[in-house]
Amino acid sequence: MSHGRVCRRCLNYAGMRFFLNPRHVPARILAHLALDEDGVCSVCRAYARERVEPLHAALAQHVRERLHHGEPALVLCSGGKDSVATSALVRGLSAGPVVGFLYDNGFIPAAVVERAAVTLEQLGVPLLVGRPQEPARRAFASLVLAPDPSAPPPCEACAQAMVLEALHEVDALEATLLITGSNYWAAWTDQPLPAVGLRTPGGRDVLLVHLPYLLGRTRADTLDLLGEFGFAPAQMAGVSSNCRVPALVQERVSQDVGHVPELEDLSLEVLVGHLTRAEAIRELYAKAPAQRRLLDGLFGGER
Ligand SMILES: [Zn+2]
Repeated sequence: MSHGRVCRRCLNYAGMRFFLNPRHVPARILAHLALDEDGVCSVCRAYARERVEPLHAALAQHVRERLHHGEPALVLCSGGKDSVATSALVRGLSAGPVVGFLYDNGFIPAAVVERAAVTLEQLGVPLLVGRPQEPARRAFASLVLAPDPSAPPPCEACAQAMVLEALHEVDALEATLLITGSNYWAAWTDQPLPAVGLRTPGGRDVLLVHLPYLLGRTRADTLDLLGEFGFAPAQMAGVSSNCRVPALVQERVSQDVGHVPELEDLSLEVLVGHLTRAEAIRELYAKAPAQRRLLDGLFGGER
């Protein structure tokens, strides 16, 4: 049995301190995270309330048509399985140019970059790799390796830099679609939609699309697609990931505040139907083996 303080639908728990990706869920919803009498958390209730099916379907149709008509698309590619599968999906849907963009914050293993480049090339998607200039690279490294506990988590700084670099590439390519492989809403904005309009530094209007979420793709769909062209994501020291920062942060946060940051991303993947709750719990244990006791306290009875 769980302790009755974990949401029945996702992985959120009462008293949880969101750490890694506060922007993934609008602050007005997070501020009131609580479980109701039925054991369902307020984030789950908000997702259910704010998801408007006809709008979702119309957006999906709109994006398919724009790809079909050959509008240039930039796909954000972290080198992980979701973004590689998304690159393949976009290539299949698009009649126009598709380019991948990987932002190497200094903590992406060279093998991940290399594997992503080779795989995308096989798919017919050239990969651009962006890197921070020298003072910024050092500043980010010290955020990760010598963190200030009162400062925002390093993934926030990375996301801001990555967004800016990606928007510059959108300008350079004259792309009209910017596509991510993330499965949750609002990673970049405060709007509860899987596609939102952005303005680039060059003044261009671009549609940001969370494609797997928009199209209702599940993890099983992703693995099927990857199996078709034989892509296996990199494995690193027990944590399957493409960036070393979450693992580095995880250890510190787990010790300092008794929270596993990966829980947040996995919980959001449950909310949007990408993973089942049981799949997400299994994956959480696999991603944070050193935090097993902490996880047992939350999910021990459900494994
Ligand atoms: Zn929930």
